[in-house]
Amino acid sequence: ASGYSLMRDPRYNKGLAFTEKERDAHYLRGLLPPVVLSQELQEKKMMNLIRQYEVPLHRYIAMVGLQETNERLFYRLLIDNVEELLPVVYTPTVGEACQKYGSIFKHSQGLYISLKEKGKILETLKNWPERTVQVIVVTDGERILGLGDLGCQGMGIPVGKLALYTALGGVRPSLCLPITIDVGTNNEKLLNDEFYIGLRQKRATGKEYDELLQEFMYAVKQNYGEKVLIQFEDFANHNAFELLARYSSSHLVFNDDIQGTAAVVLAGLLSALRLLGGTLADHTFLFLGAGEAGTGIADLIALEISEQNGKPIEENRKNIWLVDSKGLIVSSRKESLQDFKKPWAHEHEPITGLINAVKAIKPTVLIGTSGVGKQFTKEIVEDMASFNKTPLIMALSNPTSQAECTAEEAYTWSEGRAIFASGSPFDPFEYEGKTFVPGQANNAYIFPGFGLGVIMAGSIRVHNGMLLAASKALASQVAEEHYEKGMIYPPLTNIRKISANIAAKVAAKAYELGLASHLPQPEDLVESAEKCMYSPVYRSYL
Ligand code: NAP
Ligand code: MN
Repeated sequence: ASGYSLMRDPRYNKGLAFTEKERDAHYLRGLLPPVVLSQELQEKKMMNLIRQYEVPLHRYIAMVGLQETNERLFYRLLIDNVEELLPVVYTPTVGEACQKYGSIFKHSQGLYISLKEKGKILETLKNWPERTVQVIVVTDGERILGLGDLGCQGMGIPVGKLALYTALGGVRPSLCLPITIDVGTNNEKLLNDEFYIGLRQKRATGKEYDELLQEFMYAVKQNYGEKVLIQFEDFANHNAFELLARYSSSHLVFNDDIQGTAAVVLAGLLSALRLLGGTLADHTFLFLGAGEAGTGIADLIALEISEQNGKPIEENRKNIWLVDSKGLIVSSRKESLQDFKKPWAHEHEPITGLINAVKAIKPTVLIGTSGVGKQFTKEIVEDMASFNKTPLIMALSNPTSQAECTAEEAYTWSEGRAIFASGSPFDPFEYEGKTFVPGQANNAYIFPGFGLGVIMAGSIRVHNGMLLAASKALASQVAEEHYEKGMIYPPLTNIRKISANIAAKVAAKAYELGLASHLPQPEDLVESAEKCMYSPVYRSYL
């Protein structure tokens, strides 16, 4: 290739890092200033630049700009500065980016499939330049983070999630395909926004929606084969559960909001047992919120208990209680409940108000997945601390403003006895001379390693056993030094190593279940995970 096109292609561009020899060999003389910089120095320069932007959205725009000009440098930054850059390319900043996606739109990223492509989805997929794809993250934009329907502008989510697949899980960028399905939006503000990038119509539903999704699912299989992992992301719950159920026996599908969340939270619970004592079966769980996150987590807890005690799952569900917007889920409500809530309708008199449910159920673990902030009041946390020596409180709703309580509240109201984890990050908090480090139940702990494991094994289906394997692998990465600070998750700084361990356990499970197609099974799965992970170091073009 000519030097000019090498420079213009983000996959090959190295900017000022092209060496003298490369400049000679590829006709780059004069196209670059005389200096030759190392990738290290380029990284330092970009980090300095990004830190100068005080507005988070400007940092996001700078990162996207880098991704579009020099892909390896982009991943180098992300890998070396995970804790600092995760909130830029992912939540919370990506949320604001989606809200303003049309206004900040410069170059198109990912693939858009709208109602206009109906009947032509296979052709549309063929327009994507890569022949081999291993992970697709797809959204229809209806429930972006906690921000609701952002229609076509939800594209920031698949793009951001796949950047994490590469940075944290080591899946090569060329194997990742972000897709947004545009069936319209019910967001009036966007429909009236002159810069909106999507179809200007109300959401298609029912048959029209189902047909488009079906055409999409089969076109993906036809174009990329059986072994492409399709991750559903930020669909509203009325579609999310159905899509997962409908396609899980014919496709390799994974829903991060339901299954990824479940695996990361279960990992936190398993790890917390080392501080709480007992087994999962000894605990009583109460959830505020019975949607994708709440019922997903509850299901996986019950499944893990059944693996441990051999009792039927129905039996093990009995210590797990959920509250939705109408109160405690109980048997007298069964008829009117959505299907995914029905298994949780236990025998009990109806109760409204979380505080009353807490008093009646006396949970040892309280988990917030309602999307509504400030619901774990002082009285509720004090109650938790009155029946438990070490109450476990997880305030998972995002973003930070929606957290059920803050770290400070959980620690002070429980007089320093609570173990606390949240969905959005909280700073460490000092209480009576002791520093508590809150855990962050971030899905980014699980899905990149999980996906890598699925790909490594060439698994043809996702099985719950693989989710349990991922949870246990993550829980086992928490060390004594972390527990001493009250942490139930390991620091994100070691995430690539954590992902490799998760991938190895997930792959091992796929082999054990007979779902793996890459044979023979490698001897050392951790080693083979590490070996196949993408490295952002520049290649030589000589
Ligand atoms: P969802 O499917 O829409 O479910 C929300 C649930 O909360 C529904 O059951 C809803 O009740 C209930 N709810 C709403 N308002 C309530 C209220 N005032 N009192 C009691 N219950 C109420 O949403 P989701 O996908 O599960 O997400 C929920 C939250 O979890 C979001 O904030 C999300 O950011 C967070 N989340 C965190 C993580 C993480 O920490 N890793 C992962 C995933 C999600 P009805 O069913 O009666 O409407
Ligand atoms: Mn999501």
